[in-house]
Amino acid sequence: MPEHQDGYLRQMWDALKSIAIGMRITLKYCFTRSVTIQYPFEKLAFAPRYRGIHEFEADKCIACDQCAKACPVDCIYIDKSAPRKIDKATGKAAGGELVRFAIDYQKCMFCALCTEPCPTECIHMGKIHDLSAYSRQAMIVEFTELDKENLRTPVPIWMERNADKIPWVKKELQRVRRGEIATKEADIPPV
Ligand code: SF4
Ligand code: SF4
Repeated sequence: MPEHQDGYLRQMWDALKSIAIGMRITLKYCFTRSVTIQYPFEKLAFAPRYRGIHEFEADKCIACDQCAKACPVDCIYIDKSAPRKIDKATGKAAGGELVRFAIDYQKCMFCALCTEPCPTECIHMGKIHDLSAYSRQAMIVEFTELDKENLRTPVPIWMERNADKIPWVKKELQRVRRGEIATKEADIPPV
């Protein structure tokens, strides 16, 4: 057989062999159990210390700035009209107004360091992770504005749209709307 024909047949053989190897791998995965799920119709349980979007109790915040100072990326913005302190009778913050408490989720890396120094334990790492927005400005969550609606954390748009179709989403939306804290397990305890 001429040398150029021999080379051509060898290339054909190599090509067929690599297709067969590829198809064998594809077929193997066709019959193995899937490790992905159809979220949000199916949902996996979070690890107890999973750190999601913050939950914030504005009525306990004394605007001391400790969380903002601990934040490694400077993404917590706080403003108050006058000093605030905890009223021992009610357990709530009193004094000046908490004018602003906001977190910029374009920068937040969910390290939970802001939870560690909080003297009133009013900032927590929550369980909601799938928050989206249509603008960069909307990625800055204004927790003081949410508090006026008795919310501790923002309500994801998709959650509102799917609550009637998916039972666990409905339950979670109801919890968020009631202003209930999901967890404190992911917070770093004060030292
Ligand atoms: S989780 Fe970390 S990055 Fe995010 S606000 Fe708290 S300290 Fe800052
Ligand atoms: S450390 Fe706690 S009390 Fe102080 S400003 Fe931050 S959230 Fe408010």
